[in-house]
Amino acid sequence: QIKKEETTTESTTAAVPGKKGLILGPDGKPCRTCNSLTDLLAAAAATGKAPAPTTTTTTTTTSVTTLPADCPPDVETLGRHTWTLLHSITATYPTVATPEKQQEMSMFLDIFGRIYPCWFCAGDFRKWKEENKPKLETRQDFGDWMCRAHNAVNKKLGKKEFDCRFWEERWREAKDG
Ligand code: FAD
Repeated sequence: QIKKEETTTESTTAAVPGKKGLILGPDGKPCRTCNSLTDLLAAAAATGKAPAPTTTTTTTTTSVTTLPADCPPDVETLGRHTWTLLHSITATYPTVATPEKQQEMSMFLDIFGRIYPCWFCAGDFRKWKEENKPKLETRQDFGDWMCRAHNAVNKKLGKKEFDCRFWEERWREAKDG
């Protein structure tokens, strides 16, 4: 059950599509790594604690708020950098992994699913992993599995799904030119 803070602000980049208000952490305060900066600023502005966020409207209805480089990450910045790490791990995984390596990676994924700082993202990842057991025998299998894990989140957020035939081109092989 996701705890939501009641605000009058409609979420523009909702981490959980269809839900209103900010997602709270275990301390009952808005969870920085579970909400987008746009939503955090909009909620603060609604309560008079901050000026309204400056947004850039794109050709779609999405609004983008830029996070200063030295600020703690919101759910999007954290996610983007984490996917970079996760796909890079698959891209440098052995072409054929030893049983020890597979065991090591299995442990990493278990721990990752418990400690990821966006708690409901972690919960959904654990659930997806439970229904889609990690494929750790080869780099190709693992890279494809991670791509599908990422696509499950893309789908949940209403984003375009990535064509997993090209995961290695995106994360391992430099494009020509
Ligand atoms: P990202 O989705 O971060 O992707 C970065 C780059 O990866 C893209 O530019 C593209 O080049 C490439 N890419 C995209 N899809 C794939 C793919 N399938 N395979 C390989 N490469 C790909 N945010 C929420 O709001 N709610 C959530 O529940 C949530 N759950 C998350 C769970 C996990 C485990 C992680 C790591 C992140 C989660 N996030 C969640 C964050 C979210 O996935 C995005 O990272 C964030 O919204 C920023 O998106 P983005 O459009 O910049 O690109």
